[in-house]
Amino acid sequence: MQETIFQGTQVLAAFRPSDTTIALVLRPNGHKLVVVSGDHAGFVGQTSRSGRILVGELTPDNARAVRAHIPWLNPVPLGVRASMGLGDRLGLATPGHAWAAEGQGIAPVFAQQSVRENVRTGRTPQQVLDDAMWGAFESGWRGDWGADADHVKTAEDLLPFVQAGFTSYTIDPGEYVDDEVEHVPLADVLARLANINFTGIGTSAQDLLARYSGFVTMPDGASLHLDEEAVARGAAKYGRALLCVAELYAVLREHMANRAFDVEISLDETAYATRPIEHFIFAGELKRLGIPFTALAPRFVGAFERGVEYSGSLDSLAADFAGHAAVQAYYGRSYKISLHSGSDKFSVYPLAKTAFGERVHIKTSGTSYLLALEVLARLEPALFRELYAAAQSAFPADRVTMHVSARPEDVPALAGLRDGQLSGLLALPAVRQMLHVTYGAVLTQHGSSLKGALVLHHAAYELDLVTHLRKHMKPLRPRTTGPLVQ
Ligand SMILES: [Zn+2]
Repeated sequence: MQETIFQGTQVLAAFRPSDTTIALVLRPNGHKLVVVSGDHAGFVGQTSRSGRILVGELTPDNARAVRAHIPWLNPVPLGVRASMGLGDRLGLATPGHAWAAEGQGIAPVFAQQSVRENVRTGRTPQQVLDDAMWGAFESGWRGDWGADADHVKTAEDLLPFVQAGFTSYTIDPGEYVDDEVEHVPLADVLARLANINFTGIGTSAQDLLARYSGFVTMPDGASLHLDEEAVARGAAKYGRALLCVAELYAVLREHMANRAFDVEISLDETAYATRPIEHFIFAGELKRLGIPFTALAPRFVGAFERGVEYSGSLDSLAADFAGHAAVQAYYGRSYKISLHSGSDKFSVYPLAKTAFGERVHIKTSGTSYLLALEVLARLEPALFRELYAAAQSAFPADRVTMHVSARPEDVPALAGLRDGQLSGLLALPAVRQMLHVTYGAVLTQHGSSLKGALVLHHAAYELDLVTHLRKHMKPLRPRTTGPLVQ
């Protein structure tokens, strides 16, 4: 809904729960909250002379008050429904995300940010959640949506997300995965295994070997043999990671008290692919420990690099997916398989749909940021040139910390390019990767001008978000949803 109520003010959205009207408006000096009511309890702002109209900023206090009045602006746990993470580093993409998700049968996670992303963007979990909420408000979204504390690695990381009201927690024990197990002899593996103290999770290396070695009957009736060496390697590789998950989950459960929440376990940021047998042991232990996880992210074969197509053999990936899907089926499909760095992998979605059906979660994040830059390349070429230069100087250092293969020398210089050629750069994988990983430096230097320009061109940005994210959702849509809204 967009109507001009008086010069320079656009009403973006308004709701009238009981006798209070709550509106989100856009004024020349930015977004404001307007509350028309006899009682402004909980809201903070300037009141009109009559005392009925309050105009406030989009502060955490006001966000909390809005959530108290409008139930569907509170994130909820999404369980095992097909879902998509829609990370938004700028805090301006949620309206586009919501319109993309409308009618698709895929539950959206509007707030999704990792601890690392928050450090680089200088945002707090509360800002991330509130920005998503304001965006959901603006879009008119009335369905469920999630808020995912992504890649949480330590107990200290948890509390700010809990306090902000996140409903999903992605525990990342990747630092405890012993990658060296991949290439050491069996005797060494057994020594490593014997060195892990499993008493914290009520088991022992011997128990683990006994529990998982031998024949297993899969749901399709096939009998699978798990040989003892493979089990020993799996337990040695992931043993400490299991301890880490158990510990973080215990802290999380205490923090969340009686609030419901989802748990995802991410193993994707490790050096080697997660074998289905390793998934089998890991998920089996999570089940035995009573950790009610709703998603698990293995590392798959090939390369899931950020913001670009999958690289590797699709046949090998399909076989890998089938192996993980068999394990997921063994455990009653009680959790989703989560694909991280999941944006722009158009060749992968049909394979994921075939293997995991609706028990799938796709995480996207940087792709919405890249779309923002593409809009600026088209509509604000001078600003885009500045952003590009900042990205170029940060790239040599930043590329080392993220999973990208592009090198600084693969990225074209802008000097010889006309303005009309700039947006075409976003089609080049090396440029996408450079812009994808340098967001911290770019936002530190140019964050406010970037966001200001994007607010100005929000309609173009939203249209691009809808078009691009629909392309991600379409191949994953459950069969039961209604006709596709084009
Ligand atoms: Zn990840």
